[in-house]
Amino acid sequence: MSTTATTDMLAKARIAVLGYGSQGRAHALNLKDSGLDVVIGLRPNGPTWSKAVADGFHVVEPAEAVRDADLVAVLTPDMVQPTLYKESIEPNIKAGAALLFAHGFNVHFKQIEPRSDIDVILVAPKGPGALVRSEYERGRGVPCVYAVHQDKTGHAEDKAKAYAAGIGGARAMLIKTDFKEETETDLFGEQAVLCGGASELVIKGFETLVEAGYQPEIAYYEVLHELKLIVDLFYEGGITRMLQFVSETAQYGDYVSGPRIVDSATKERMKGVLTDIQDGTFARNWIAEYKAGLPNYKKLKQADLDHPIEQVGAKLRARMPWLQAGAKAEQPQLKKVG
Ligand code: NAD
Ligand code: MG
Repeated sequence: MSTTATTDMLAKARIAVLGYGSQGRAHALNLKDSGLDVVIGLRPNGPTWSKAVADGFHVVEPAEAVRDADLVAVLTPDMVQPTLYKESIEPNIKAGAALLFAHGFNVHFKQIEPRSDIDVILVAPKGPGALVRSEYERGRGVPCVYAVHQDKTGHAEDKAKAYAAGIGGARAMLIKTDFKEETETDLFGEQAVLCGGASELVIKGFETLVEAGYQPEIAYYEVLHELKLIVDLFYEGGITRMLQFVSETAQYGDYVSGPRIVDSATKERMKGVLTDIQDGTFARNWIAEYKAGLPNYKKLKQADLDHPIEQVGAKLRARMPWLQAGAKAEQPQLKKVG
């Protein structure tokens, strides 16, 4: 573990950031503000080109950005990375340059097999892009994990640590990992707890109250709106702090009813989710789904968007314009955990 890394290793390097979405914009702005030389690579007329230009960056096509770069950060959606690698990176990246990912998926599951004459590294902030940027602006940072898959130059690890320092991660914590551990834990976290687990818990709680005849508006506040208070306490001081701030009655209810909801059978199913990640089943299914044009993804997403909790939520949130302003400013953060 380290909090002392500096950007020195990349002081003279040109960094190409490919993709300007949630992570790309945050990394690029933080690296620039840390004094590093950043160019952005995007498809011409892509949706974020004008945003990167408006933020003051030099923006060129991916192949051109890669050609002059000493470090190429691949921050496009995971499913477009293999084609991007084949078409724009592999033919253009300099020998001895570093190829950097923010998630190990494509390297770990062998969708990208990088050229042998480059360094291949990973720096993954443990937070959404909007937070990576806003924490940096406050003089703080989002913890990062980093890893080396291929060390051609003997400096791969130092490059990863310097990049992590450049985006502000070293102000919080850098933890060394490998591509396998990052990929598997990241997928598990978002599926079982952060995105999948939390949203299903909220939806089932909402349905239980509404089906029992309670007002949907009250159900919404109880199981979705108030979750922010709890999560903020977890974030600041763990479960200990949450227990300090809720009533004794809420604590007793937590102790006796929590384990009735999330029990050892839930944990067994979590292990099943983890097994599917570890043995490649999840990756195979997701790649096939993407290649088929996302038929199930689109159906499942629409079902989530059409759920009554979203209808009632939209109505109630419209009464709180301060939430709307925050949502607009931090859209990438709300989009997904990643
Ligand atoms: P995103 O969807 O927010 O942004 C994607 C960007 O790539 C956009 O600028 C888009 O225009 C551009 N793009 C799309 N196709 C392209 C192409 N063919 N060529 C060039 N540019 C293209 O993506 P994201 O959520 O920031 O994810 C980027 C990477 O970061 C992924 O590997 C993801 O797993 C990882 N990650 C994301 C988060 C998160 O919070 N979102 C957290 C940690 C790691
Ligand atoms: Mg992820």
